[in-house]
Amino acid sequence: MNKRPFVTKEKVEEIASQFPTPFHLYDEKGIRDNVENLKKAFSWNKGYKEYFAVKATPNPFLINILREYGCGCDCSSKPELMMSKTVGAVGDDIMFSSNDTPLDEFKYCNDLGGIINLDDITHIEAVEKACGRLPKKMSCRYNPGGVFKITNDIMDNPGDAKYGMTTEQIFKAFEIMKDKGVEEFGIHSFLCSNTVTNEYYPMLAKVLFDLAVDLKNKLGVHITFINLSGGIGIPYRPEQEPNDIFVIGEGVRKVYEETLVPAGMDDVAIFTELGRYMLGPYGGLITKAINKKHTHKEYIGVDACAANLMRPAIYGAYHHITVLGKENDACDNKYDITGSLCENCDKFAIDRMLPKIDMGDYLFIHDAGAHGFSMGYNYNGKLRSSEILLKEDGSYQLIRRAETEKDYFATFDCFDFFDELITE
Ligand SMILES: *Cc1c(COP(=O)(O)O)cnc(C)c1O
Repeated sequence: MNKRPFVTKEKVEEIASQFPTPFHLYDEKGIRDNVENLKKAFSWNKGYKEYFAVKATPNPFLINILREYGCGCDCSSKPELMMSKTVGAVGDDIMFSSNDTPLDEFKYCNDLGGIINLDDITHIEAVEKACGRLPKKMSCRYNPGGVFKITNDIMDNPGDAKYGMTTEQIFKAFEIMKDKGVEEFGIHSFLCSNTVTNEYYPMLAKVLFDLAVDLKNKLGVHITFINLSGGIGIPYRPEQEPNDIFVIGEGVRKVYEETLVPAGMDDVAIFTELGRYMLGPYGGLITKAINKKHTHKEYIGVDACAANLMRPAIYGAYHHITVLGKENDACDNKYDITGSLCENCDKFAIDRMLPKIDMGDYLFIHDAGAHGFSMGYNYNGKLRSSEILLKEDGSYQLIRRAETEKDYFATFDCFDFFDELITE
């Protein structure tokens, strides 16, 4: 597939004249079309709901767009719960994915009426302690162990993952919770991340649906939702075939009709907690070429660095790069595209074939819309960039300003010292 940016060079020049690079740019039209298709693909299920994984892109302006389509929020910390509250997502619109969770966060979630998804059987007691009693509706996270295979490919290794309960534990947990008055149950599992195959969700659904039928038959519990969580991926590389959400939705429907319906469980709602799939392709990191260096290799230095997008540095992840305005030029130059951190891993691309890059060219780093800005950090005193929304009508809006030096020094309680610095 030919990966094209959702923005032109001219538009980026216009935006950059007002908000300097680097910045993260988001594509409103892409976001809307995608969430509409997701909803259509699962419209066969009456209770279907997507809980956007807030950690992927914690920006209330973007989450508000998803809210228009009925999405809730999947949170796993107090600040994420607070963000959810600011966009009006409370009660059943919150899924709280606990994981090594402190008591006060269980309490905060319960006060908002959110659904708690328990990561461990010992947390039943923790929730009772934090909230006084168990909520009427509870979810548990399942980890079947072993390896998760699709045909002959090992996709991931749940046996090594810190999340979820074993089969034995989830039975025990449901039994205990039922005794303590819980009335509605859900199950959740997240076995593989960034899957670029239409088979993952239907296979996961089969595992969870079988478990749900067993739990219902053996314990008499009322399971009202099954949460397939995140994990639907995106094609970071141009040669990858993207997922087809309609094939995925139909695949889950088939398993639903074969497994849950005959067991009398045709009222079970399907939930998802997608992050990457919702926003990944609809965000790009825009950065300017500011230095070039020729030593043993050809280097292009840009004004963004791994602090703005750390996936290449920490996972060696591939992010496609387009030199704006040179979309149709031959890729006949081999470059390392580097940031300015004092870390050799601070490279957005290594030995990448690109058109000839001139100083001042804008680079569009693709698929930075999820797990991009949000993983940013302040190493080397680098400040977080702004985030800008490119709207459907071509206008744009600043949806988070860039960090300033004042933000960087804010936690020292030493503004006197800081004021001297900036007046010098
Ligand atoms: C990270 C996460 C997600 C989202 O994962 P994606 O890969 O972005 O789809 C969903 N649920 C939970 C519990 C997570 O931790």
